[in-house]
Formats: sequence, structure tokens, C-alpha cells
Amino acid sequence: MKILVLNCGSSSLKYQLIDMDTTDVLAVGLCERIGIDGRLKHEPEGKDTFVSEAPLPDHNAAVKAVMDALLDKDHGVISDISEIGGVGHRVVHGGESFSESVIITPEVKAAIEDCCKLAPLHNPANLIGINACEALMPGVPQVAVFDTAFHQTMPEKAYMYALPYEMYEKHKIRKYGFHGTSHKFVTGKCAELMGKAPEDISIITCHLGNGGSLSAVKNGKCVDTTMGLTPLAGIVMGTRCGNIDPAIVNFLMEAEGLSGKEVDNMMNKQSGVLGLSGVSSDFRDLEAAANDGNKRARIALDTFHYNVAKFIGEYLVALNGTDAIVFTAGIGENSGSSRQEICNYLTFLGIKLDPEKNAQRGKAQCISTPDSPIKVFVIPTNEELMIAQDTDRLING
Ligand code: AMP
Repeated sequence: MKILVLNCGSSSLKYQLIDMDTTDVLAVGLCERIGIDGRLKHEPEGKDTFVSEAPLPDHNAAVKAVMDALLDKDHGVISDISEIGGVGHRVVHGGESFSESVIITPEVKAAIEDCCKLAPLHNPANLIGINACEALMPGVPQVAVFDTAFHQTMPEKAYMYALPYEMYEKHKIRKYGFHGTSHKFVTGKCAELMGKAPEDISIITCHLGNGGSLSAVKNGKCVDTTMGLTPLAGIVMGTRCGNIDPAIVNFLMEAEGLSGKEVDNMMNKQSGVLGLSGVSSDFRDLEAAANDGNKRARIALDTFHYNVAKFIGEYLVALNGTDAIVFTAGIGENSGSSRQEICNYLTFLGIKLDPEKNAQRGKAQCISTPDSPIKVFVIPTNEELMIAQDTDRLING
């Protein structure tokens, strides 16, 4: 069976067509600038990349363009739409309604709609993608895979904010957490590498990409995570500030004459390592600048590493120790120097990295020395495969 995985953003749509018999990716692509002008980049396995600049006025047009690209006689990878057995949608916010992936029904769509106020930039786009697929592929089962679902096992003491309780009752203000698909995927892979069942491992997973979050995973289930009501909370990120004194919001509004929305924008888009360094949000640029003696780039990197290491410390407490620490996503998978600098704060635990293994890339493996009491792993994440696997499981039982 072939599963189409869709990730709809407000003006973009990422897709992969995966053959579940082999887990081969048959095609991967991206529609951009939806509603502005439109661009589609389609990369079929074993064929030339196809790029189209045809207008994409809305998500319906984008889904149609994806179908056309998949079916095209030159750069297509299927000959009939019926070859697609199901569609798996990445849905950002499932609120408290979903702790698992689900087959999409009218009730599920209503619940996703209910969560739009919690993720106003993402959930509406996810719904548009679902509706577009229903219109273009009637009868093909659709599955929603939520970024928040893996974190629904957190206990109240981890997800409640110390605000008046009515704010939780009235507005559902609590910690939800994100990147759940990635945290779940690497948890499963880590268990495999350790030769155990996920229920038998307690680990700290570090998803360090442009956005980043850590999770404390006890016996295969999330018990705490760094992102909160929104993805702004937690560690210092590429352009997001992560946890700061909440009084800074009001202070900035008065001191800079900004609206709440403008401060929110500053904290989401102009902060993090970009704001600190003034150089870039990309760790490759930061590492190069810091090596060239740029002081602010060094401060940004140091702040990031210290921040991640402190959250690992927090989760050592949450888990009462850990079997392993897992690094994943762009920085976690690729930056050996970041992994080393983070682990330098953890030497009191006896954690030691094997420099040769830490220098390697693209491979799921243990990078700590054999005598390290806590194992450290690099595990490339694969959210699309996880979405496709959940979709396949729900459709085929
Ligand atoms: P993601 O959001 O998971 O795609 O991660 C993107 C981030 O990974 C980029 O912004 C970079 O900061 C980082 N990254 C990717 N490749 C490397 C690399 N070779 N060295 C350091 N950082 C990298």
C-alpha cells in the first residue's frame, strides 16, 4: 500500500508518497507561496526533479497540483489515484481530545476546528488540506496525526500552569507540547537500538532543530516536555526566545510602545540565537561566525548549549535518572560540536562521548563510550514515516 503524507502550513504544503511494503519514499515535494503566486518542487525517486511555477491560488489547487505531479507520465510515480491507499495529515494541535492518531470523521474535523484557537496559524491550514483531499480523493481514508498526542500522557503536575484554575477550565490554558511525532519516533528507535521494548526504557529526547524541544519519557510514555501552550516555550531556539520572565512581555509593551501582538512577533521571529547573535538562526552560520571570533555568535551558542543541558538536568529529576539521552533533528543530528558542548555539562554523571562516533552523521547509533553509565544516541528523526505508519496501522488494523 502507498500512503500520501501531507503537512499543510498556512502558505505551504509538504508531501511524501511512501510505499509501506518497503518504506521507500517514492516522491517528496513542496508547494510554496500558496495564495501568493505558487511554486511546486517535486522530486520523484529515480527521476529528474520537476519544478512548476503555475499559480496555486489556494490549498485545493496545491493538492490538485500534487496529484497531477504524482500521476504525470514523465515525472509521476503512480499510474492511478487508486494506488494511494490512505492520506496521513500532520495536524499540529489536538488539544486534550487526542492522545493517539485517528481516522478522520466529521466529529474529528469538528474537534480539530475547536483547537484552532490554540494553534491559529496551523490548524486552519491542516483542515483546509483535509477538506481538499476529501474533495479530490473521495473514499480514500484520511488519518490525523497530532504533534501534541504523544504528550497527552503528562501528569497534571507537569502540564498545569500556576495560574488561576479557572483559566484552565475556561480557556484550556495548560502545557500541551509539540514535536510529539518526532519524540515518539526516536523513542521507538532508541528502544530498538537498546534491544528493549519502549515500555522498558526511560530516556530524555532532545529534538534540536530550528524549533526545538526536549521530552522526559518514562517507560515509553511522555511525562514532561519543554514546549507549552504554544511552541514558544522551553529551550532557546532559532528565532524563538523559549522560557523568559513572563513580566518581560508587559515591560516591553511599555518600554518600546509595542502591542501584545508585536511583542509576540518579536519573541517568535526575532529572538532565540538569531536575536542574541544578530548573525543567523542557522547553527552552521553561527558556528562559522563564532570560529571567526564573533562574540555574539559565541554567546548565542553558549546560551543554547547551557539552556539545553539545564533542561536535561530538569528531566533527570523528572525521571529520577535516565537510561539514555537522544539527540535528533537538524542540530541534534548534524552538529557534533553542539552535542559535545551540551554533554560537557553532564560529565558529573560520567557521560563521555566517543569523538569518532560523535563526528559521524546520518546514522542512528550510540555515540557515548562503552563505560558511559548513561548512553547517548544520535537518531535521525522521520516524522513522515511515523505519520505513514500510523495511517497504515489505522487503515489496515
Ligand atoms: P530542522 O528544523 O530540524 O530542519 O533543523 C534545521 C537546523 O539544523 C538549521 O537551522 C541548522 O541550524 C541546523 N543544521 C543543519 N545542518 C547542520 C550542520 N551540518 N551543522 C550544524 N547545524 C546544522
